[in-house]
Amino acid sequence: MRRVLIDGHNDLVLHRWRHEPTKHMDLEAARAAGLAGAFFALYVPSPAIPDPTEIPYALPLPAAIPHVEAARIADELYAALCELPVGRATSTADFREGEVAAIVHLEGAEAIAPDLSNLEDWYARDLRSIGLTWSRPNQFAEGVPFRFPSGSDTGPGLTTVGVELVRACNQLGIIVDLSHLNWAGFWDVAGISEAPLVATHSNAHALCAASRNLADEQLDAIRDSGGVVGVNFAVTFLREDGCEVPETPLAEIVRHIDHYAERMGIDHVAFGSDFDGAVVPAELGGAAGLPKLVDALRDAGYDDDAVAKITHGNWLRVLDATWHS
Ligand SMILES: [Zn+2]
Repeated sequence: MRRVLIDGHNDLVLHRWRHEPTKHMDLEAARAAGLAGAFFALYVPSPAIPDPTEIPYALPLPAAIPHVEAARIADELYAALCELPVGRATSTADFREGEVAAIVHLEGAEAIAPDLSNLEDWYARDLRSIGLTWSRPNQFAEGVPFRFPSGSDTGPGLTTVGVELVRACNQLGIIVDLSHLNWAGFWDVAGISEAPLVATHSNAHALCAASRNLADEQLDAIRDSGGVVGVNFAVTFLREDGCEVPETPLAEIVRHIDHYAERMGIDHVAFGSDFDGAVVPAELGGAAGLPKLVDALRDAGYDDDAVAKITHGNWLRVLDATWHS
C-alpha cells in the first residue's frame, strides 16, 4: 500500500451528535491525506470541565454516568456515526486506499450492561473496540483523573464484572483499549487479557508527566504482549511542561515516537491522534496535515519500512491478531 494511514482515535462523532463543525476530521481532506482507517469513538460526555490554565493541575474525577442513561446516548452517537459517509471495518480487508473505514469504538464501557447482556448486540453493530473507561469510574473499572504532574495510580482496579468484560471481549474478538484506565486497572487487564495489549491514544510519561500518559513499565508490558500504542497528538500530553500551547511544534509528536521506538521497538508504535478531542499542534492542523507528520518521521531518519509500520502496519497486525475475521 502506498500511503495508507490508520489512526487510533478521533471524536468526530461527538461533534456530529452535537451538531458542531469538525475541527480536525474533515473526511474529504482525511481521505486525500491517505487516512484509510480510524477508531471512531462513541464517547458519552461528562459535564464539561474547564481546561486547566495553571500547572500543576489536579482536576476532580468526574461522576459515573448510570448505564441506562449512557446506553441511550450511545445509541444516539451510534446513529450519528451511521450517518457519516464512511464504511465500517470488521476485518483488515475493509481498509482500502481512497476510502475511510471506521472502527466502531466505545470510549468508556458504560453503555454495556453490567450483566454483559447487550455486548453481542453491540458486536452485531460492528463494535470492535472498547475502552474500559474514560477518565471516570464505571461498573467495570476506574479511569484516571486529569492531573499534571501525576502518575496514574489513583484508584481501584477492575470490578468482578470488569474482569468478565475483558474475557468476553477476548472471546468475541473485541479490542480492549487501556487509554484512560488507571494503573491498577491497566495491570489487571495485562494479567487477564489473551490479546495483544492496546492503548489507542496515550503518550510517554517519561517525556510528559500527565496522569493520562504511560509509564515505561507499562510500555514494556504492551511490547511483551505484541501490542501497540497510538501516539496522542494532544499538546498537553506531548509537552514536557504540560501546557496547552497550540503553537507546539510537530517535532513533539516525533519525540514521543522516538521514545516508544527506543523503549518498545518499532513494531509497537502507531498514531492515535485524538483529532476533534484535543488541541493538537497548529502546524499539523488536522487530518489534512498527516502527510506533514509522515515527512517529519522521514526527516528524523525513519526508513520506509519503519514509516509503514508506524502509519498502518502495526495497527493492521494487532487488529488481525485480535479480531475474529
Ligand atoms: Zn480519550
